[in-house]
Amino acid sequence: MSDKKMQVVFASAEAAPFVKTGGLGDVAGSLPRALVAAGADVIVMVPKYGTIASEYTDRMEHVADFYVSLGWRNEYCGLERLVIDGVTYLFIDNERYFKRDYPYGFFDDGERFAFFSKAVTESLQHLPEGFQCDVLHCNDWHTALAPVFLREFYQGLPLYERVKTVFSIHNIAFQGQYADTILNDILGMAHIPNAARQLRCDERSINYMQGALDYSDAITTVSPSYAWEIQTPEYGEGLDGILRRRSNVLSGILNGIDTDAWNPATDPMIHANYSAADMSGKKACKAALQEELGLEVRDDRPLMVMVTRLTRQKGMDLVTYALDRILSGGVQVAVLGTGDYEEPMRYFANKYPGTCAARITFDNALSHRMYAGADMFLMPSLFEPCGLSQMIAMRYGTLPVVRETGGLRDTVAPYNQFTGEGTGFTFANFNGDEMGDAVFRGARLYWDDHAAWDQLVQNAMAADFSWVRSADEYMNLYHNLHPEIDITKPEPVVQEPEPAEPTAVEAEPAAPAPEPAVTEAEPAPKTEQAAEPADDAKAEAPAKAEEPAPKTEPATEPAKKTAAKKATASKTAAKKPAARKTAATKSTATKAAEKPAAKATATKPAASKAAATKTTAAKATATKTTTKATASKATAAKNTAKKPSTASATKTATKSTATKAAPAKAAATKTTADKPATAAATAPKATSAKTAPKAAAAKTAPAKASTSKAATSSAAKATAKPAAPKATAAKAAAPKAAAQDSSAATPADKPAPKAKSVSAAKRTTRKR
Ligand code: ADP
Repeated sequence: MSDKKMQVVFASAEAAPFVKTGGLGDVAGSLPRALVAAGADVIVMVPKYGTIASEYTDRMEHVADFYVSLGWRNEYCGLERLVIDGVTYLFIDNERYFKRDYPYGFFDDGERFAFFSKAVTESLQHLPEGFQCDVLHCNDWHTALAPVFLREFYQGLPLYERVKTVFSIHNIAFQGQYADTILNDILGMAHIPNAARQLRCDERSINYMQGALDYSDAITTVSPSYAWEIQTPEYGEGLDGILRRRSNVLSGILNGIDTDAWNPATDPMIHANYSAADMSGKKACKAALQEELGLEVRDDRPLMVMVTRLTRQKGMDLVTYALDRILSGGVQVAVLGTGDYEEPMRYFANKYPGTCAARITFDNALSHRMYAGADMFLMPSLFEPCGLSQMIAMRYGTLPVVRETGGLRDTVAPYNQFTGEGTGFTFANFNGDEMGDAVFRGARLYWDDHAAWDQLVQNAMAADFSWVRSADEYMNLYHNLHPEIDITKPEPVVQEPEPAEPTAVEAEPAAPAPEPAVTEAEPAPKTEQAAEPADDAKAEAPAKAEEPAPKTEPATEPAKKTAAKKATASKTAAKKPAARKTAATKSTATKAAEKPAAKATATKPAASKAAATKTTAAKATATKTTTKATASKATAAKNTAKKPSTASATKTATKSTATKAAPAKAAATKTTADKPATAAATAPKATSAKTAPKAAAAKTAPAKASTSKAATSSAAKATAKPAAPKATAAKAAAPKAAAQDSSAATPADKPAPKAKSVSAAKRTTRKR
């Protein structure tokens, strides 16, 4: 082992706080810092966009400039350095490409990000002294060509020989697909048969992401479940074949969240602070939020929120389908977001005043208040590479209701009514009735069993979503590529032991652990119907005929915060132009003479459109028989045993999740196994006709099975569960009956308007 630190160049088209349009910006803003804390040297490379605030550009230091060849072009590239929190940022400067008012969505994005990828590769020769790149970590299609350039143009140079490449997929729906004229004109690779072949995705197009998948030494994506989902035709967006072929180097590493920025105990944007030990502030937050949004201020109504892009990916089809049933069933709903489904959301807000609210905007401060003030968070995504919102919600003690896909499946442990374990409510199929059932499983628990609800909230708040866990996993991955580099964590700075005589501080006993919050048992707001668990259809609709509970006073008066605090909070709103995310992909490439060397001077520019649009059929997914044991651990020893999923006609899903929670929490290790119960509940709805394509997919998709003892034992427990008491099983089955009856319970006087445009259905290669 050498003494050398792991030196990583992290290339991304966005990084918070400089530029962010979505999850990628969050990751590139947080992960490098966590890697530094884990013992790596990290340089982050980002384009120097014209939109980067002057508070940063003013502090940048010019460190190098050189020219980058791009087809027949020779483009200027400057490197501007800024160091923040131990992370060095090198901004790639070229005003022609990047001095614009938005990061993406231009006709020449293909050229801009080919330049960025080449500039990153070239920059490895111009790094600060002492920095010798071991790993080039590229993210999403914008940087996908860097591993291709590196191997095809730079391989022979000694400096590059040691560089291993990692490519991370944050969303496979956006791949960077362009007309193949680019191959010669911009990439200068038409004469390299290997590159031409591996980049080509059809007879007229090339695909940047495909190139990275073939050329990178390791491939990651942002959750273990998404890692195997994208190996199936259903989720792979045409790249599933390559991913199956390269599955030996593909892994899923969950994203984390910034636990300082999202902390209910210190968050200055919320109405009252609270923690797992003292939840009283959360009640105040709920009352304040209800008031702010014009909802009835009452604690006996579960308040469910969404903070999201209003797109098909986020499950808005299911939401618009099921909202009548949910709202008339006594659940309050508030939505914050922008996108294709703005009109339907306005419609429901008008139809159910006091019960439904829609805020069609991007408002960071309001999002904090919604995470804090809600009881439940709805996220029924069609696909979800990782998802941050559900993790944020859990950190605020707001229980997620999610579809079991991608990162949602990996982060939310379904409530097990037999053991009381879990961190939220889940459903399997992309189906509005199943989503409604899951919502009412949550609502029923909220109404009927305060102790169980509170325990779930505690479980959710104890889950560990910090970046430390993810950074450790990335460090292990880097170490696999460079086993000669020691990645032992730096010893924490140990305080010099004080002399024998105890100081005043030492003499003081450790602060007593705060008393566990004693939740006043509120009168369970049961309705008569609620007492009849088998007849859930009735129980779901108390709001219509009969209020679900005697109107109780809001549990606590909203704690009054200073006006100044509120003012600060409301100022923090930021614009997020969602339209850009779904912008059609159109690339005009300058067509040069078909000359292999690509240095032709006699060029004839011609516009060519990238044939980059892909349509993806929406599918109601069939239930898979999946045995899954996930063990999330801070220092995850790799559980790499792959276990092929087996398709079966019976709808038995056994999922066992062993979550390592924050060490401070007593109920730290959660072993949840409730699938059998869920399966029992959904059995009557089994749609066996749907299984065929899914089964085929499942065969090819290896499911990772944890070998950890805890996981194994909980899996065993899971399979034992069907023997659970009959009475409770009946209760579990009840919501289904209601689901089947949902239309009858719906007072829909007028159908909800259809979404104006469902642009996600026509998935383009460019989100960003
Ligand atoms: P995405 O696929 O959009 O990246 P994630 O769940 O990974 O979804 O991250 C979404 C992030 O954006 C979350 O932090 C969420 O709070 C935030 N967000 C989404 N829409 C809004 C909005 N309208 N206002 C404020 N924050 C929003």
